[in-house]
Formats: sequence, structure tokens, C-alpha cells
Amino acid sequence: MRFENETIREILREYRKIWAIHHLRSLAEWDSDVMMPKGGSSLRGDALAESANLVQSFYTSDHFVSLVRRAEGADLNDYERGVLRVLKRTIHYYMALPPELVAEEERTVESAKRAWEQAKEKSDFSIFAPHLEKIVDIQRKKAEHLGYEGHPYNALIDLYEEGATVDFIDRVFSEVLPTVRDALKRIVESEKYFDHHELEDITYERQDMENLNRTVLTSFGADWGHFRMDVSAHPFTIDLAGPQDVRITTWYQGKDFRRSLLAAVHEWGHALYELQQDAELCCTPVSGGVSLGIHESQSRFWENHIGRSLAFVEAFYEDFRFAIPSLEAYEPMEVFRYFNMVRPELIRVEADEISYILHIVLRYELEKVLIEGSLPVSELPQAWNEKMEEYLGVTPPDDAHGVLQDIHWALGSIGYFPTYALGTILSAQIRHAMELDLGPIGELIRMKNFGPIRIWLKEKIHQWGSVYPPNELIKRATGEELNPEYFKKHVKERYEKMYLS
Ligand code: MG
Repeated sequence: MRFENETIREILREYRKIWAIHHLRSLAEWDSDVMMPKGGSSLRGDALAESANLVQSFYTSDHFVSLVRRAEGADLNDYERGVLRVLKRTIHYYMALPPELVAEEERTVESAKRAWEQAKEKSDFSIFAPHLEKIVDIQRKKAEHLGYEGHPYNALIDLYEEGATVDFIDRVFSEVLPTVRDALKRIVESEKYFDHHELEDITYERQDMENLNRTVLTSFGADWGHFRMDVSAHPFTIDLAGPQDVRITTWYQGKDFRRSLLAAVHEWGHALYELQQDAELCCTPVSGGVSLGIHESQSRFWENHIGRSLAFVEAFYEDFRFAIPSLEAYEPMEVFRYFNMVRPELIRVEADEISYILHIVLRYELEKVLIEGSLPVSELPQAWNEKMEEYLGVTPPDDAHGVLQDIHWALGSIGYFPTYALGTILSAQIRHAMELDLGPIGELIRMKNFGPIRIWLKEKIHQWGSVYPPNELIKRATGEELNPEYFKKHVKERYEKMYLS
């Protein structure tokens, strides 16, 4: 039994109520993005805002808070300590923020989303600017209420990545940046550089592509009794009740098939993290992935280390050809080159593995100065374009392809972006640790033998839910703290071979 302490058990019984609201809020969010007619959005926003207040009043109720206090100082096991850690963080969050600020954030985000959509459509930053000013102001107030040491950004990033700080992120980025920038420069200047691949133009039938995605995920081990795949404007994963009900989405553009396939593979990585959690953690505060960075390490592991490998292309080459007959003219090696082509792009979600890090560094640097107050929102588009030129050597023709491309800031998510890079970097370390135990995973992928990979991830990471904080989980899983050396080595190996030898 994971939870034996009487007070903890009482807390978990109480928590079932909040779990039920979380569960239904998730279902409402999934519905908003996959099923709901557009006209339903305003009332859905109201329902989510009202239920957010219910959640806050639950976490701050005297009864619940005193129960949690009572458990402090008791002799607890790891699972129970995890429950206490997660609840104390959540209670601190809701106690620190005035309810008016919580409500103001919900309302501001609702109108900011609509303004952002319009601004992006018309490529006119001035439509979004006043909303973003409010959002930055709210996030700065939040940081003040939550408290921090050093930089105010520390209070915000901790909401997405427990324990992460500006100092930590700066150190990680300063370690990987020279390798990433040097690799990109050498690739773009290489004789083997190509800025277009014919396979980007090959079209497919939507149903054939969906069948291919399903075939691949079934080989990975998808149990369709507990897992769904649908379609949405942007691919995402939602955990409704892991391990019993986890859902992903992908997208279908009708051509450039790697986009649909690699999105499905990416989201599968997120989904498996939720599907393989210890069933006894279900409906408790420690159910589900512990942080966005660890979550992204799982999706990036499946996307970059499995989906973009030559072994994967070779293993599924016949399936690719069955879905898209015109692929016949291309050898597996050509498909591999297409999956891994490096090209400095304007758009983050279309970026290759190397440029991707630079897209994140750019956003992170801008977020920091916005929160400091040293960059006014009105100067953001210009600052964006200058950094794009500096890091990627491209300049957006308009704001829709620049500063307006991502929805995150409209959602109030400042401090979220760095977790994408942390996950990408960590995924290489996870692969290294896995290969010490299993040998080269290319062999397993080539045989479509994904069982050992799933089991390794389950034992080392997935089963633990949020029991351990991110840092401790990484150490337990890989034997050391986040170490960017593995990512640097991965970049060199994969791209040296393809471009530079
Ligand atoms: Mg992801």
C-alpha cells in the first residue's frame, strides 16, 4: 500500500472532490479544442473561470489547510511526502494570490486570446499589445505575491518547473549555446546543405495518413481501450484519468507527412508518461507528470531519438510506402534526411532539433526583460526581429510570422518556454542512461521491439508520477543531475554524419 498514514489517507479522501473537478475541467478543455462549436467558447470560458474559483476555495479552506498542517512532521514514506510536497506548493499558490487577481487573470486571458487571434490574422501587433501589457503586469504582480529570491522570473518558472531558477536556466543555455550555434553555422555553410526537400511537397490522403499514425502507435504499444487520437489546430496531450483515459491529437496538412507523423509520435511520448503511472497514484495529488520539462523529455525522446532515427525509418518504411505510394521513389536514407533536415525557420513549431533551442533562448531572454520591466511591450516586435536575425539569420516579414506566432503569452504563460528546451536537452541524457541498461536502442527499434523501452521508462520515470521533485527524479533515473553534455554529443553525432563528413 502506497498511502498508510491516517492523516494522509484522510487528505486523499478529501482530495477526491478536487480531483473530480480537475477531471471534469480537463474534459471541458479537451472538448473546447477538439469538439466544441466555436459559439460555445464564451460560456465555456465562464464555466472554467467559476470552477477555477471553486478550486481555489477548496485549497484555501480551513479544514483542508489544517489537515495538511497536521500531516507535517509525521513519519511519512516517499509517496506520502510527495503528496505533502505537492499540496503545500498548491496551497501556497492559492493562499498567496488575492482571489481578485486570480479572477482578473482568467478574464484578461479570455479577451487576450481573442485579441491575439485577431492580431495574428491581421498581422497587427498593436491589437494584441494592450492585452499583453495587462498580462505582463498581472504576471509581475503574481511574482510579487508568490515571493522569490533573486530575479522575479524565478517565481514564475517555478510554476512550470519546480525548483528551476534563472541562474540554472542561464547555466544550461550557456553550456549548449556554443555547440548549437556552431553546428547551425557549419551546416548552413556546408556543401551538403539543402533548404528544401522534395518530400515536403508529396501529398497524402488524410485517411491513409491517419492509418499510418495508428499503425506506428500500435507498434509502440498503444492500448486503444485507454487511449485516443483525434485532430486539433495544434497537437496536444491531455490526461483525463491516467492510466485509464489519456488522449492525444495530431494534425493533417495533406502534404509533408513528417509533420503529422512526428506530431503523433511526440504526443505519444507525453501520453505514455501518463498511461504508465502507478495505478495506485490515480486521483491523488501525485498522479501525473511532475513538471513540464520532464514531460517534454518524454515527448522529445520518442520524437527525436526514436521517430527521427534511421532505424525507425527502416523499420516502418514499408508502412510509409503503403500509406503514401509515391514514397517508392525514395530510399529510407532519403526519408531520414528529410526527417532531419536543418533549416533556420521563422516558426518554432516547424523548427529542426538544433534551431529549436535558439527559438526558445530568444523567447526566454525576452520574457526575462519583460518581467524585469526593462523592455516595454511596445518595443517587443523590434526586439524579437533583432534576436531572430542574431540567432537564426532570418527576419520575419511580418509580426504573424514573428512575435505573434505562439499563443503562450496570450494564455498568461510566462516562464513556460524554457521547459521545452530543458526537455529536449534531458531527452538525450535519458537515452544515454537507457542504453547503458539496454544497449543501443537502434537494434530494438529496427525489430519494432518497443517493450523494453516502455518498461525502462516506466520503472525509472513514469511510475513515480509527481512523487519526487524533477531534480531528484532525474538523478534517480539517470544517476546524475541534468547534464547538457549528452545533448551536445547527440547533436554532433547526428548532424556530423549527415552534413559534415
Ligand atoms: Mg510537447
